Amino acid sequence: MIDLKDFEYGELEEYLAAMGEKKFRAAQIFKWLHLGVTSYDEMTDISKALRGKLSRDTYVSTLEIERKLVSAIDGTVKYLFRLPDGNCIESVVMRYHHGLTICISSQIGCRMGCRFCASTIGGLYRSLTAGEILNQVIFAEKDMGERISNIVLMGIGEPLDNYDNVITFLHNINHEKGKNIGYRHITLSTCGVVPGIYKLADEGLPITLTISLHAPNDGIRNSIMPVNRIYKIDELIAACRYYADKTGRRLSFEYSLIHGVNDSPDNADELAALIKPLGAHVNLIPVNRVEERSYRKGSRDEINAFLRRLCGHGVNATIRRELGADISASCGQLRKKAAGIREI
Ligand code: SAH
Repeated sequence: MIDLKDFEYGELEEYLAAMGEKKFRAAQIFKWLHLGVTSYDEMTDISKALRGKLSRDTYVSTLEIERKLVSAIDGTVKYLFRLPDGNCIESVVMRYHHGLTICISSQIGCRMGCRFCASTIGGLYRSLTAGEILNQVIFAEKDMGERISNIVLMGIGEPLDNYDNVITFLHNINHEKGKNIGYRHITLSTCGVVPGIYKLADEGLPITLTISLHAPNDGIRNSIMPVNRIYKIDELIAACRYYADKTGRRLSFEYSLIHGVNDSPDNADELAALIKPLGAHVNLIPVNRVEERSYRKGSRDEINAFLRRLCGHGVNATIRRELGADISASCGQLRKKAAGIREI
């Protein structure tokens, strides 16, 4: 059975044309799918005959809300969605002054193996389909009853390890007949899959790219991010430069401060030397505790000292505001509990 949300708009038109349908049917069906209908019967301007024909080979995919946690502190909402195959994924909706931002997952689990991350414990189960990535936005928005205006691909999984489905998702979420979310309102976060960065630069989609750097040199990065053993920091920075030149978009870098691992004054100096020539922004994130890991964050003073030292070199950096602290909003932790995933 085919999930129509796995098609790009043009493919949906072709599919319907092959069934002898007019082009405008694609617009009607695409609109309904993006409103979060759960069956063809809800598509009231589509004839019964066509609904019947569609149900033969295709279906309307949905996501069940398995759990929903709302932060009493800042209104952040965390969804644990259950997929039709029983697997769970997480999405988080955050409220900013410019509107709602959703952080979505791209895979069930992850095979990148970052040592501080909860999502990679248990490895990769499978990649999400384009429809499953999209459904997180559709069903969170339907449940919230409010427009979601920004998207970050920063949940569970490595988006560049599920390249084609992520691109289909991006085309569809941007399409004017659907949610019409501008590329400039979309951010993709990667741990540094270098060939994927070059490919993405050549797609001509002006989305924001953010790099999970987390270390100022190959020695530290190799020890906490296995991806660095394949793509070294200088290759990663070269790919970033290509992305920035090609798309005209400013880059940003994520840097999780792990006490005693990457947060010394020397580390701040090294980081500044890497970042300054790129004119990029650095988001400092005090590392979140993951039960199975021994990593911990430094004190407020140590974190502030790292920030001051970085800024002293003329680097544009901020400390990420923590949202949803009371609902373990940082990704991977809820799914892990739901699935009973343990460190292997
Ligand atoms: N695979 C992509 C996107 C998902 S991870 C990537 O690596 O960018 C989203 C972000 O959370 C990444 O920056 C990741 O390094 C960070 N992260 C993972 N575990 C964390 C933890 N325990 N504390 C702080 N940040 C963490």
